[in-house]
Amino acid sequence: MRKQSVHTLIGNTPLIEVRYLPLPEGVRIFAKLEYLNPGGSIKDRLGINLIHHALQEKHITANGTIIEPTAGNTGIGLALAAVGTSISICCIIPEGFSQEKVQLIRALGAKVIRTPKEQGIKGAIEYARALSKTISDSYCPMQFENPVNPKTYYETLAPEIWSQLDGKVDIFVAGAGSGGTFTGMARYLKERNESIRTVIVEPEGSILNGGEAGAHQTEGIGMEKIPAFLDLSDIDHIYTVSDKDAFRAVEQLARNEGLLVGSSSGAAFHAAFLEAKSATKGTNIVTIFPDSSDRYLSKGIYKEEEV
Ligand code: PMP
Repeated sequence: MRKQSVHTLIGNTPLIEVRYLPLPEGVRIFAKLEYLNPGGSIKDRLGINLIHHALQEKHITANGTIIEPTAGNTGIGLALAAVGTSISICCIIPEGFSQEKVQLIRALGAKVIRTPKEQGIKGAIEYARALSKTISDSYCPMQFENPVNPKTYYETLAPEIWSQLDGKVDIFVAGAGSGGTFTGMARYLKERNESIRTVIVEPEGSILNGGEAGAHQTEGIGMEKIPAFLDLSDIDHIYTVSDKDAFRAVEQLARNEGLLVGSSSGAAFHAAFLEAKSATKGTNIVTIFPDSSDRYLSKGIYKEEEV
């Protein structure tokens, strides 16, 4: 990888306090603005690590092809990481996920194949596995089961947050798609202090809280299957947040804080606020804003209002 490239801008994102809602005295909510990564999401951290790992472990040569099923942001992260290299990226994205993410992946020089919406991420995973068997010098990192995924967040995101708050973290709240962010963060935090409460957020239509798999508008989070690397004992609580609550939070964060975030950030903030309501004085709650609203404008993330 080139020095002084866009890749050097990945990580070290700001942490901001969100203050527009009245909270119990001495309770604070902080959000890590991961949408300020150069590819616009938390998955830039993963993209570059998956490629480093694939090369290091000799899964591919420097001219190889990475094939990955993704809701889009990991695809952007991989495509961004491959810029300036001879590695080809092919992303398998089910229909239904935002067109903007597909456009960004293609803008970065990578390929996108869409699979049927009804088959969900599972369909994309099967397609990616089958395709990688037909292309020589290709590799499927498979973020949904690759330990590099949680390790990335354990090694980068977690120490950044820890140092930004001088270790004063009481509650951590994060949405889970692959579960990589949550797993890496929870492991790091609990190693430092077992009493730190670590909380997962999922949309309605995700299976973690025992619900039925189903469609939801909140993009990037929600599970169809529990990943092997997710240690269920790390989960102190699970919030299942409706699309309505997630999108309301998205609008309020824009209007009141100037934070232009995607729906998974809205869901995470909604859950962080629920935690805050019953928290005691001196509690610091940290959550993650994984990507921005600008990649969901065509999906009507903000209700259009007459001026
Ligand atoms: N929010 C958005 C917008 C995402 O794209 C993702 C990744 N799919 C997540 C949250 C969840 O991250 P993770 O896969 O680490 O659970």
